Amino acid sequence: FRLHSAGIAGIREQTLVAVKPDGVQRQLVGEIIQRFEKRGFQLVGLKLVQPSRDVLSEHYHDLQKKPFYSALIQYMSSGPIVVMVWEGCDVVSVSRMMVGDTNPAAARPGTVRGDLCVHISRNAIHASDSVAVAKKEISLWFHGSELVEWESCTRKNNYNV
Ligand code: UDP
Ligand code: MG
Repeated sequence: FRLHSAGIAGIREQTLVAVKPDGVQRQLVGEIIQRFEKRGFQLVGLKLVQPSRDVLSEHYHDLQKKPFYSALIQYMSSGPIVVMVWEGCDVVSVSRMMVGDTNPAAARPGTVRGDLCVHISRNAIHASDSVAVAKKEISLWFHGSELVEWESCTRKNNYNV
């Protein structure tokens, strides 16, 4: 299977995407999953969790000194989130484009935040911002056994393999 998909570099790139508590409360989970599915990315991990402050403080540890940090942790721990791992060519950078600017007021129409959100403090979705960060975030939120390697029948339609 690995040999089969080795034809295109980066085809197995993975990223962490999360629907934040406001997105879950607003019933945007299906809409968000659908955007990634329709784009052609492959789902390899998915769960609904009530995130602990410990995991959140690790997840956002680079932002500890920011003035909005404690409000961010409060918000992110206010209810369940949906964490997922998506796989595909350039999935990290493409996901960031699909998510849009951190501030929904600056996010372009067509992006999740540009279509579905209004305020930076409630921007519905998270996506890893680099391949290295994606690796860390995936291992923070998922056990290896929770990620499923599977052959999608759309793969040969989406890639030149
Ligand atoms: N955030 C906020 N106020 C700000 C900047 C960020 O509440 O002024 C929150 C927002 O939820 C954002 C998260 O902190 O998504 C992480 O910030 P980052 O700069 O990493 O943005 P992202 O990568 O989510 O676009
Ligand atoms: Mg970020």
